[in-house]
Amino acid sequence: MATFKGFAMKRLNEIGWVEKEVPECGPMDAIIKPTCVSPCTSDIHTVWEGAIGDRRDMILGHEAVGEVVEVGSMVKKFKPGDRVIVPAITPDWDDEAAQRGFPSQTTEPLGGWKFSNFKDGVFGERFHVNMADANLTFIPDGLSDEGACMLTDMWSTGMMGSENANIPLGGTVLVIGIGAVGLSAIAGAKCLGAGRLFAAGTRPISVEVAKKYGATDIINYKNGPIDEQVRELTDGAGVDSVVIAGGNLENTWAEAIKSAKAGGTVSNVNYLSGADNVLIPRVEWGCGMSNINITNGLCPGGAVRMERLADLALCGRQDPELLVTHKFKGLEKIEDALLLMKDKPKDLIKPVVMLDID
Ligand code: NDP
Ligand code: ZN
Repeated sequence: MATFKGFAMKRLNEIGWVEKEVPECGPMDAIIKPTCVSPCTSDIHTVWEGAIGDRRDMILGHEAVGEVVEVGSMVKKFKPGDRVIVPAITPDWDDEAAQRGFPSQTTEPLGGWKFSNFKDGVFGERFHVNMADANLTFIPDGLSDEGACMLTDMWSTGMMGSENANIPLGGTVLVIGIGAVGLSAIAGAKCLGAGRLFAAGTRPISVEVAKKYGATDIINYKNGPIDEQVRELTDGAGVDSVVIAGGNLENTWAEAIKSAKAGGTVSNVNYLSGADNVLIPRVEWGCGMSNINITNGLCPGGAVRMERLADLALCGRQDPELLVTHKFKGLEKIEDALLLMKDKPKDLIKPVVMLDID
């Protein structure tokens, strides 16, 4: 195969099919053919909100599992035919930022996020993975392709949101936004020992999965400010930890800060777009002295992260497949799946596209 087809952002607000040359496989790298891919809300921010600026004919998508078709001469763990989980974030593990403990930020801010940002993504018949031994993981027996695909970004990001939220054992937690990312934060918060767990969102299917993942209370943000509802439900106390996984720049940050106890943590994983500044309410933030810490981060990538998430699923702690609500078949359906992700009907959490490529 000299060239292959992929589904791309042609420019801002325009998507379509492109034909590209199969990328070269460097000595430490691999070429993969995907067997299952899923669109992300971040693809929507990228194409229709210009969140990372313009991109021309860039193949979209960063959530995939697949089969190895080629490996470089220095790759030790993998060979053609292996079935692998491909993390959405594929850091350069020899970079200085990785050595400082921030692999997702290698080479430049957000630099670990390569697919559908700095290079072609996974919505094509082939894609390239850097540092295959450090970034790929075998799909373990007992995990389906679609379940494994949910680990690559949704579980990794959402669970990081909860890891960054300093949840005390038995502590109270609020997760704002219960799309696939917020639901994964709930799944993570439960694993990390959350006590009472508030989930803010309205899509009925998300509410159902939030309860299955461990939410104890559902808050409908359309019924009034989230912080007021949280304060009422906690006799005025507020919560120890807040994860922001949805919402907007006008209200959400204020609601998060106002929901947190002094000394609590607000952990953001939302991909901010739509305004240039984040507004923090000065008084409720204790004039900057409340000890309410704000944390944030880009999805963690790499082989070890994926292995650990796969173990959580295999040990029955949580079920990643609960996030998959729509299943398409065939490469040409990638467009439908992406547009579904853009429209967000009430019965949607995540669509996947199952592929059978030669
Ligand atoms: P969804 O759009 O599926 O979910 C968003 C959630 O926010 C929904 O539950 C929605 O409610 C809720 N919401 C909407 N408006 C409000 C509001 N005013 N107040 C409170 N909640 C509100 O998104 P995803 O779960 O797919 O992704 C969440 C975010 O995470 C996105 O911005 C995405 O780009 C980002 N992301 C970040 C990554 C990272 O590395 N940090 C990686 C991957 C994604 P309703 O139920 O009513 O629809
Ligand atoms: Zn994503």
